Amino acid sequence: MSNHDLSSAKSDVAQNLAEIQDNINAACAAVNRDKNEVTLVCVSKNHEADHVRKALLDGRRVFGENRVQEASGKWPGLREEFPDIELHLIGPLQTNKIKDAVHLFDVIETVDRPKLANALAKHRDNTGQCPDLLIQINTGEEDQKAGISPKEADAFIVMCREELKLPIKGLMCIPPVDEEPAPHFTLLGKIADRHGLEIRSMGMSGDYASAIRLGATHVRVGTAVFGSRGY
Ligand SMILES: *Cc1c(COP(=O)(O)O)cnc(C)c1O
Repeated sequence: MSNHDLSSAKSDVAQNLAEIQDNINAACAAVNRDKNEVTLVCVSKNHEADHVRKALLDGRRVFGENRVQEASGKWPGLREEFPDIELHLIGPLQTNKIKDAVHLFDVIETVDRPKLANALAKHRDNTGQCPDLLIQINTGEEDQKAGISPKEADAFIVMCREELKLPIKGLMCIPPVDEEPAPHFTLLGKIADRHGLEIRSMGMSGDYASAIRLGATHVRVGTAVFGSRGY
């Protein structure tokens, strides 16, 4: 291939994105949803800025990272190049990292316990700053997984919204790896419906089509966009 062919060829990431967008459109069409109701969050954790840039050059603007420290090394530079990006924190947040997280992220998807909610409210009171927030629900009630349990979810959502006046926009879940995800997506939707919460962040590389059919507004896709992370 000549240099010209290389530069005009679609990147591997752009090809992946085209395929994923086709799948998103098809899943929406299958349940009569408008494809614009679903946002693809490109999960760029464990990938270097040069690889992530391919998705930015393809027009993608919504990204997810699961560690504050990793994101703080990668995203300030990319944000200078692409000021209109929307960055989501999709991994657990320690209260001692709140200041950095609020500075870096436009959405924190992982509010999962009263201590964190209180600390975010305190930070907001002191600085006037708080990104949009999602509450993570541990739909599988797994001991090792973050998220508030479904039994405690209603009271926690009410506390965050009414007592702390936090900008809770929706819910997020990560189903157990060894289970059929659909019941978890359905449960998340029911809790969101009860509270009139619009955003439902659910579905990853293996199950985003199913999540969309069950009402996802945001799908978090890493491997299918960027390839394997090769830990
Ligand atoms: C890594 C990660 C994803 C993306 O997973 P893939 O299977 O690579 O698409 C989605 N959500 C969360 C919370 C993650 O940590």
